Amino acid sequence: MPSNQQENEIYDSTPFTMKEAIAEAQRCLHCKKPMCRTGCPIENEIPDFIHQLSKGNLGEARNILAEKTNLPAVCGRVCPHETQCEGHCVLGKKGQPIRIGKLEQFIADFDADMGLTRENIPPKTRGNVAVIGSGPAGLTVSGDLAHMGFNVTVFEGEEEPGGVLLYGIPEFRLPKEVVRRETKRISELGVKYVCNTFVGRDITIDQLFEQGYDAIFIGTGTAISKELNIPGKELTGVLQSHYFLRMVALYKNGSLDRHEVPITEDDHVLVIGAGNVAMDACRTAMRMGAKSVTVVYRKGMENMSAAQVEYEGAVADGVKFMWNTTPVEYVGEDGILTGLKVSVNDTELIVPCNKVLVAIGSKPAKLIISTTKGIEVNDNGYVITKQKPYGMTTLKGVFAGGDVVHQPATVVLAMKEAKKVVEGIAAYVDAVKLLEL
Ligand SMILES: Cc1cc2nc3c(=O)[nH]c(=O)nc-3n(C[C@H](O)[C@H](O)[C@H](O)COP(=O)(O)OP(=O)(O)OC[C@H]3O[C@@H](n4cnc5c(N)ncnc54)[C@H](O)[C@@H]3O)c2cc1C
Ligand code: SF4
Repeated sequence: MPSNQQENEIYDSTPFTMKEAIAEAQRCLHCKKPMCRTGCPIENEIPDFIHQLSKGNLGEARNILAEKTNLPAVCGRVCPHETQCEGHCVLGKKGQPIRIGKLEQFIADFDADMGLTRENIPPKTRGNVAVIGSGPAGLTVSGDLAHMGFNVTVFEGEEEPGGVLLYGIPEFRLPKEVVRRETKRISELGVKYVCNTFVGRDITIDQLFEQGYDAIFIGTGTAISKELNIPGKELTGVLQSHYFLRMVALYKNGSLDRHEVPITEDDHVLVIGAGNVAMDACRTAMRMGAKSVTVVYRKGMENMSAAQVEYEGAVADGVKFMWNTTPVEYVGEDGILTGLKVSVNDTELIVPCNKVLVAIGSKPAKLIISTTKGIEVNDNGYVITKQKPYGMTTLKGVFAGGDVVHQPATVVLAMKEAKKVVEGIAAYVDAVKLLEL
């Protein structure tokens, strides 16, 4: 259900000034039964941190946030607030809900700028855990376990930690500096990152156990983009949105030249799909200077899974939308894409384009399960986990969480699951250590 906030205005994501943040915090009713907290998947103590902010106690506000989240500056920016915390705020029933996400972002940014708070770093005496993947799930497991006295090493295939936060979500929505700041803060808890290391290729799970890890967490997300199986998919110009967004991220951090980014200023681009990845792809294509960008979606606008705010952002950026339009065939000449044949109301037509960005979902890679015996996955490739100890796979001592288990979702849902798996890992390692005595 759209909230009043969505009906009335395009969500303004410009950061608050101190004066604006305190004024916004002072609007909070500090409800006895805070519905906003119910709407937050990780149950942030929202009224409490807002109350401290309203009195100007930013350090205390940050400490309250830190009890539940390692990524407040990220969640404050990219959570679907309108359906979560802000969607449940009672003030939203008749007017504007409290801008909880922007306040969370403000507190995290202010703390980072001013260095207000210091983390408590407990001695690492409870055991060694290897974490595979450094997206929101891996970072949450690492940060929480480090707080609990575990020695954590993160193995990451990419050059830098951050997962989709760094290589998927574009800079204009989530600045890379913000992600780097959060991963650095986690490393200051004693977490070690080993990057450029793909588990299953450079090292195996069995070898990690041989190195003395008591438990291993798999948080590898869904790296394989789903293909649209229509004729012509081999034509030059048919691309995956994940690939395009990653190339732009690498170009922005200086690892690639502009000509290596597969969208140019001459391109007419169609984006297939209407989820958040499609919105990021179409808005990024506009920012890379494409001549035209049109989203093609087989269902109506009411079925779009993208957040309303992202759709409104895309419209404001100049992206066009074709609803109830089913792709039928990629059309080309001499191996190069020239158009997309679509069906609209049972009539077929060709929409001219020279690039298509496919954004119809993703699924887990097989690198780890194909090199490790005993980790079962379901028919779609998602890792099967147990309720007790929470998050353990069918292989003893190996746990999993985030998108690789629960399908592509959101940052905060990956964090929520990861937090539950942390309890499972801690209970398992403590029990194993007890038996060793
Ligand atoms: C373009 C895009 C935009 C999105 N926008 C939003 C948004 O606005 N808001 C929101 O809440 N959610 C958004 N999401 C969804 C959200 O980012 C994911 O749900 C979340 O990142 C999942 O976290 P994860 O830790 O499970 O996996 P990921 O973030 O995918 O992290 C997995 C990590 O594992 C690493 N890895 C994979 N295999 C191996 C291996 N074998 N060895 C070592 N490392 C490995 C990967 O390199 C990666 O760093 C978006 C997703 C995409 C793709
Ligand atoms: S984590 Fe996300 S849902 Fe929870 S309070 Fe923060 S912005 Fe809202």
